[in-house]
Amino acid sequence: MFNFKKTLNSKASAFFFLITVSLIVILASLGLYAFYKFSTSTAMSHVRTAAEIIKVHLTEAMASGTISQRQQFLQRLNEVRDLRSTRVVRAPVIDEQFGKVAKGEFQPDEIEKGVLRSGEPFFGLTEGNGELIFRGTIPYIATTSGFPDCLQCHLAKQGDVLGAVTMTMSVESLRHDAILTVIGIIGTVAVFMLLLFVLLSYLLHPISNTAAAVEKSVREALSGNFKSHIEKQTNDEIGQIADDMNRLLNFLDSGLGSINNHIAQLTERKPEIGENLLEATIGMVQHLTQISHYKLAIEEDESKIDIYRRLLSVLQDKFGETENSVYEIAHEKNEIRTIIVNNELNAFCRWCDSRIASYPASCRVFHTGRMVNGLIQQDICYSFRSQATGDNVKRHPLCFPILQSGSVGSILQLVVKDTDKGSIQTALPYIQTYLRETAPVLEARRLMETLRESSLRDPMTGLNNRRFLEEYIDTLVANVRRKQATLTVLMLDLDHFKMVNDTYGHDAGDTLLKELAAVMKRNVRASDITIRYGGEEFLIVLQDTAGKEAEFVAETIRASVEKMRINYGGIVLQKTISIGMADFPGDSDTFWQVVKYADIALYQAKETGRNRVVRYTKELGQEAATI
Ligand code: GH3
Ligand code: MG
Ligand code: MG
Repeated sequence: MFNFKKTLNSKASAFFFLITVSLIVILASLGLYAFYKFSTSTAMSHVRTAAEIIKVHLTEAMASGTISQRQQFLQRLNEVRDLRSTRVVRAPVIDEQFGKVAKGEFQPDEIEKGVLRSGEPFFGLTEGNGELIFRGTIPYIATTSGFPDCLQCHLAKQGDVLGAVTMTMSVESLRHDAILTVIGIIGTVAVFMLLLFVLLSYLLHPISNTAAAVEKSVREALSGNFKSHIEKQTNDEIGQIADDMNRLLNFLDSGLGSINNHIAQLTERKPEIGENLLEATIGMVQHLTQISHYKLAIEEDESKIDIYRRLLSVLQDKFGETENSVYEIAHEKNEIRTIIVNNELNAFCRWCDSRIASYPASCRVFHTGRMVNGLIQQDICYSFRSQATGDNVKRHPLCFPILQSGSVGSILQLVVKDTDKGSIQTALPYIQTYLRETAPVLEARRLMETLRESSLRDPMTGLNNRRFLEEYIDTLVANVRRKQATLTVLMLDLDHFKMVNDTYGHDAGDTLLKELAAVMKRNVRASDITIRYGGEEFLIVLQDTAGKEAEFVAETIRASVEKMRINYGGIVLQKTISIGMADFPGDSDTFWQVVKYADIALYQAKETGRNRVVRYTKELGQEAATI
């Protein structure tokens, strides 16, 4: 796990360690280098000076004839402090002049040979006898300057190397001093850096502690807990951060808590123990937003079917595919109608015993008005058919009532496979909120449909009225044209009906009209349209029934009316009816013109003695036009 405190401290320590080591290395290197430079250049100038002095002394000794004692002189020089050896070697040019090396003289070593050859001095440091030795080998170059000049005694040219002096001197004391100085520098730097580190640690401590506390609080906040508190350690900006953070946490805790409570009430969702408050709130807000979009969408949906379809599709998108059914209750007929099964319209009742259709009380949701949850209580509803597909998968019903005008108007049935039980159970509160939003929209839609239905129906006879025909006829005519089919229009009018009203009263007339409506209905097919066109005038549109067939239907109606006996308060009412008929598009390709022609034929039936069927002819039309 990432630990800010450790990281900050270890970062600071590593930084200081690095700085300290770098400083020490740089200072020590600089110190050593300076000492090296200083000691070698000092030693070099010492050796050069000494070489010059030796040269002067040797020249003097030659001039004074004491050159043979030069070894003693050179040995005595070794008594000089730190001077370890001094020796002079001769160049071959001297050997050639004065003969081979005398006894006690030195043979040049390799370095000296090199110096004698090149005429360039040599300086170097070596370790010898446990001490650091500086060696300098300086050539003596023949020159004409000075007195006596070299060429006076030596058979050499100017610039020839005559010999070389080699001196070794101990620089141990210098090395010692250098080491002491470097140790002093290292010590000073180390102490200084230690003090600096202690000071910074002291300053960093509250920062790293606060940072660690902030980091912990943020981590807890991300997991939905806003109750943590950050200890204020200082009164500076760091303390201010702790204060501000505590204020923010309090604000989030109380604010989110109250938002969560309000939203939970709206979604009817109970918070779970240890649940992430933030995630739960975000989830609920998203859910509410989706619900509000859903509500806007269903309010604009055209029909109840569209609303059911949207409800099912939303639930399946959100909570997974389920098999399903939607039922509607027709209270007036005491029926349950299956509207949708497994997302298909007008499918047969599949998940329930089909007897619920005519015996609604066997539907548990219908008779209790409450949700039926087969996930909690298995086999709770006797009408549910779990094995309908024969795939041996156990299914459970989840049936929700959708209340309309205080009673169950529709039922949503989700058929949940045993394996999907858990996920749907947790989604129940959400499903309920969707249903709660759906119910009023469905109720409004149902009310509108009822209103519309009643505006298109004659309440007394239960037949559709003239307005229905006006609204429906365009669709009907378009269908007929497309299928190149025919329609026959029958206009029907009771004969001397006024007399019934006048003799037996209006109620008797009404009873007769209701009975007549039933007779007409019985004699036409379900696809034919029977309209109460006016007071006691009726219009029947026969579909796909033309010519003799249509005449036969008209004649059957006429005969049935003639045979009709209505018992009204001990009186037997008996009436006849006149019928005029015309064809569409045979008589006219304008539907309303055909209605007019049927009316002309009806008039002809009345004129020619009533209780008869008259077919429209062109002659009748011309006759009517002349009247
Ligand atoms: P005809 O044979 O010429 O048709 O004679 P009729 O008496 O039937 O004459 P008409 O068709 O003009 O009569 C219409 C009568 O129908 C007038 C009105 O009193 C009666 N009527 C219209 N609507 C209703 C209704 O809803 N109930 C009742 N009881 N009578 C109605
Ligand atoms: Mg009439
Ligand atoms: Mg009449």
